[in-house]
Amino acid sequence: MIPMTSETKTSFPDIRDGVRQLCANFPGSYWRALDRDRAYPTEFVRALTDAGYLAALIPEEYGGSGLPLAGAVAIMETMQHAGCNGAACHAQMYIMGALLRHGSDAQKRKYLPAITSGELRLQAFGVTEPTSGTDTTSLKTTARRDGDHYVVNGQKIWTSRAEHSDLMLLLARTTPKEQVARRTDGLSVFIVEMRAARGHGLTIRPIRTMMNHSTTEIFLDDLRVPAANLLGEEGKGFRYILSGMNAERVLIAAECVGDAKWFIDKAVAYAKDRIVFDRPIGQNQGVQFPIARAYAQMRAAELMVAEAARLFEAGEDCGAEANMAKLLAADASWAAAEACVQTHGGFGFAEEYDVERKFRETRLYQVAPISTNLVLSYLAEHVLGLPRSY
Ligand SMILES: Cc1cc2nc3c(=O)[nH]c(=O)nc-3n(C[C@H](O)[C@H](O)[C@H](O)COP(=O)(O)OP(=O)(O)OC[C@H]3O[C@@H](n4cnc5c(N)ncnc54)[C@H](O)[C@@H]3O)c2cc1C
Repeated sequence: MIPMTSETKTSFPDIRDGVRQLCANFPGSYWRALDRDRAYPTEFVRALTDAGYLAALIPEEYGGSGLPLAGAVAIMETMQHAGCNGAACHAQMYIMGALLRHGSDAQKRKYLPAITSGELRLQAFGVTEPTSGTDTTSLKTTARRDGDHYVVNGQKIWTSRAEHSDLMLLLARTTPKEQVARRTDGLSVFIVEMRAARGHGLTIRPIRTMMNHSTTEIFLDDLRVPAANLLGEEGKGFRYILSGMNAERVLIAAECVGDAKWFIDKAVAYAKDRIVFDRPIGQNQGVQFPIARAYAQMRAAELMVAEAARLFEAGEDCGAEANMAKLLAADASWAAAEACVQTHGGFGFAEEYDVERKFRETRLYQVAPISTNLVLSYLAEHVLGLPRSY
């Protein structure tokens, strides 16, 4: 195992121990079997829920642990470091923030305790659409007010975990783009109760992907959503989604740091064990250096994650740090994945080593939930003041 970093030692060590113990019950064989069938890790998500980890950020008054973001960072990172796949449940950690910050008292009382107990799963986040992609404000899904309901029509894509969630946060346009002063106006967020909606205007179709991610596309045909399920004010939804994005970036970055640690551990262990030309392959600097470089990248990313979480908790603007954490951590996990496969030679491709599975899983973070180019664009324009490109 790689030595404990200062963050691992000092930031929520008890929580890290607890998550590590829980994850020990879900070894590589568990994830391999699910991966083969593209099946959802129901038992894993249930165990995390029962232990209270998925309610880490929900305030105590709603039954959660009310931890700061760094506590959730410790949970997500440890989970990935243990070889598990937090993508099955990570959304609950950050989309719940929109409900917490912008929901009415009635909505919070109705949903948050039930999410804490696991009675309701808030795992689906319907933002991306097939035609507009990253250009979120051009999305085509509409919600039209009709009495005490909204009628929703449109399509979402990459709505992950939709088949394993009871609630979905849905972003839709309530005022046409041509009629608003700014393109970010006129979008609204709804809490969709999926169990009731399925078959009554909501259709879910799974998309098979290169890794086991339970992602789907969603069709919305005259879906009636009670007006009481509008989150915050009509037309301000884009702002609500944006307000949660820093936490999302930090948590995804924490997952990438965990992935990088897993790959580095695996690569180091194998490089020490594997004897070729009568000596461990790890004695060759050509094998050592990519692993050492990935370690340095991981440490830098880990520090940026900690800094972004600190600023977030202090209520300061952490947009730049959250974006940089995501960028650096996704790069570190990808560098570590690449070094790990290369170190394993042919065995890097064998299913039973788990390396190829984690390699596929960690590749996603260059693209989702925000692609590397868009992070660079944010830094270029908003931090460095370069001209806007779009
Ligand atoms: C497995 C998976 C799970 C996902 N889960 C969810 C989910 O739960 N909910 C949800 O709402 N979305 C989800 N997404 C969607 C994800 O957030 C998007 O795929 C991602 O934001 C990129 O959008 P896009 O795929 O439409 O790419 P596009 O917007 O079509 O972009 C394609 C490529 O072009 C680049 N590009 C586009 N515009 C520019 C520009 N101006 N400058 C430079 N480069 C540019 C992008 O960086 C990207 O590499 C998921 C995606 C995947 C693959």
